[in-house]
Amino acid sequence: MKAIVVGSGAGGATTARELQSNGFDVTILEAGPPFKPFTRRLSWTEPLRRLGLMGGESNFKYLFPAMKMERSSPELILVRGVATGGSTILSCGNLVRADRGLKEIGLDLTSEYEDLENEIKPEIIPQENWRPVTQEMYKSAEDLGLNPQPTPKAVDVSRCSYCGLCELGCSRGARWDSRKFLYEAVRNGATLKTNSPVEKVILEGGRVSGVITRSKDKKTKIKGDVVVLAAGGIGTAQILKNSGLRAEDKLWADIVLTLGGTLKGARQLEEPPMAWYTKHKDYILSPYPDILSHYFHKPWRKVSIHDRVGLMVKLADTEKGAVYADGKIDKPLTEHDKERLPVAIAQAQEVMEGAGVSGPFVEGVHNGGHLGGTVPLGKSDVAEMKPSWLPDDLWVADLSLAPRSQGLPTILLTAAMALRVARKILETTDNMRE
Ligand SMILES: Cc1cc2nc3c(=O)[nH]c(=O)nc-3n(C[C@H](O)[C@H](O)[C@H](O)COP(=O)(O)OP(=O)(O)OC[C@H]3O[C@@H](n4cnc5c(N)ncnc54)[C@H](O)[C@@H]3O)c2cc1C
Repeated sequence: MKAIVVGSGAGGATTARELQSNGFDVTILEAGPPFKPFTRRLSWTEPLRRLGLMGGESNFKYLFPAMKMERSSPELILVRGVATGGSTILSCGNLVRADRGLKEIGLDLTSEYEDLENEIKPEIIPQENWRPVTQEMYKSAEDLGLNPQPTPKAVDVSRCSYCGLCELGCSRGARWDSRKFLYEAVRNGATLKTNSPVEKVILEGGRVSGVITRSKDKKTKIKGDVVVLAAGGIGTAQILKNSGLRAEDKLWADIVLTLGGTLKGARQLEEPPMAWYTKHKDYILSPYPDILSHYFHKPWRKVSIHDRVGLMVKLADTEKGAVYADGKIDKPLTEHDKERLPVAIAQAQEVMEGAGVSGPFVEGVHNGGHLGGTVPLGKSDVAEMKPSWLPDDLWVADLSLAPRSQGLPTILLTAAMALRVARKILETTDNMRE
């Protein structure tokens, strides 16, 4: 049987590998090119940055094309990876279980979490290797009773160079990304087609029988017995709507807002970001030098990267945002998000002050890169791992399925859901494959 998997990020690569190793003939269609990590030195950009000559965040693509940034409203930038490996190539390597909203729909992913953790084997960055300011902020968070924990990381610590640029791709291959699963699938016989954006699915007699890709002006039809959309919360919703199918206007993004302070010679960039985190009801705090704000946010311009200290708030935002068939996105901050962020930011400032970090404290730019919720699973969908409105032979296996925002890293959640979906596909097609 032939399966088409659309996208090669956390969801797509996991699904492709599972299906290929269980007898499917898999073709992976990836919109982006093969990923290349950023290998140039960032320091040459510093004089341009200080003079404000870097322009807006849309110029980032000239430095690093795999990172796609788009404004979903005047105050919010959405970030995702468009290349092999999807957004996992941009990750800080955090690997934690996130399960907000899963119990409510009766979805228990414990066995998939265990399988993935046993394979990826997350490690923590040894505390003695953290920058002094990171250690001091950890102690300050402890003193404030916030119970900070070292972050489990999908990083081979022995190979990490402490460049701090995980989000620009790991040039040493120390940080896991989903290309590991992707290339395993390819070694087992799967076909990977890069630069192949899927425009829509082909509907025939109430079932889906393939997809149409468009590259420049060339349209190509690719037929399959099963189609799995794993193009991420934005990509999957766009393909569905462009095919005349439904996607829900419930996009969430886990909004990141970093508070910047200063400490002479802190050199916070010289360690993997987010070495520890504190967990609260709907947000986390975590040390983070926020390159996006450093380069493109005017209020951050005056302080050099060596003296800048950042503490991130990552908020589980309101599940409200629309993706349209033409790819446009409409997702503003809601009143609820605007009320929650200052509470967390005030706590971040307390942690920083307790660690000797001084002001002026300046907020960074609001951004979000955990894109989910557009094909949310409900209680009645969990047995099939498929929302009832999807036609036969069409599946979704990415973060779109998660009904609630998390305020926590989402790779493990995405991969666990995708693994469950792939196993369900195998179960459903068992007779047909014999
Ligand atoms: C900067 C950044 C840092 C992050 N750090 C962490 C972290 O440390 N830990 C963590 O757990 N999570 C992290 N995340 C979040 C995590 O990477 C994502 O939640 C996760 O990768 C989502 O998986 P996905 O399969 O839904 O989408 P993605 O991984 O984004 O994959 C979607 C894929 O589909 C492709 N695609 C899109 N449209 C089409 C189309 N029309 N046709 C074909 N292909 C298409 C894309 O190019 C991409 O390859 C981070 C995200 C960002 C942006």
